[in-house]
Amino acid sequence: MISSFLTAYDWKAGLVLLVLVVALGKLGRWLVFRVPTFRQVRDLNLAEDKLRLAREKYPAMIKRSVRVGVWTNLLYFFVMAPLVVSFEPRPVWQILLQAVLILMVYDFLYYLTHRFVLHASPESPLALLRYLRRVHAVHHQARDPSHIDSFYVHPVETFMGQAVFHWTVLGLGLALGDFHVASVAIASLTYIQLNTFNHVKFEVADPKYRVLNWISFKHHVHHIDMQKGNYATITLLYDRMFGTLD
Ligand SMILES: [Zn+2]
Ligand SMILES: [Zn+2]
Repeated sequence: MISSFLTAYDWKAGLVLLVLVVALGKLGRWLVFRVPTFRQVRDLNLAEDKLRLAREKYPAMIKRSVRVGVWTNLLYFFVMAPLVVSFEPRPVWQILLQAVLILMVYDFLYYLTHRFVLHASPESPLALLRYLRRVHAVHHQARDPSHIDSFYVHPVETFMGQAVFHWTVLGLGLALGDFHVASVAIASLTYIQLNTFNHVKFEVADPKYRVLNWISFKHHVHHIDMQKGNYATITLLYDRMFGTLD
């Protein structure tokens, strides 16, 4: 058991994954903010964020959430991911397909968790579900979110949300065989960036950016109250399939 764990554990691939996610995330932000429209959107969101951060509850909740997020991510990058990532060469199409597979399976599992656990009925006979609905209600306090609201999440929900992604990567990797480190980097970056971006106030007139307007708008609709759909975070495909697109 221990020897098969040690054989599967590729700490170098895990470390490269972490470096790729951090470095590409930074490079991506640097490139994006060279575009004047995105700088304007950033400034608008930073101004909104500042107003929210002045309220006592925001920094306190974000601090607790970030602390849990850091520990969950340490576990992911140093224990879970090294078991299922490798440098074994693969064609580009396979690398991309693996990333899409991770994201689609994750999105489905997150859809189910968000719809049936975090939005469980307040009258549910299960005390745990009623508690988790109240946990999620913290994030829903923002009726018209800005960038900072992607971090205004109860620590229990931060743990759950990240666990769904991390266990998807680990579970698929153990079931199907190792992923290329680039596949998991692409999937991790897309997951992180989309979960942040969908809270950004993004309403620009230029039709070039209509997909981005749509992504932001759809998650803002979800925040109007706790009755709206749009439970998935990557594509909303499952909301379309199961009739919960609002
Ligand atoms: Zn929700
Ligand atoms: Zn949200």
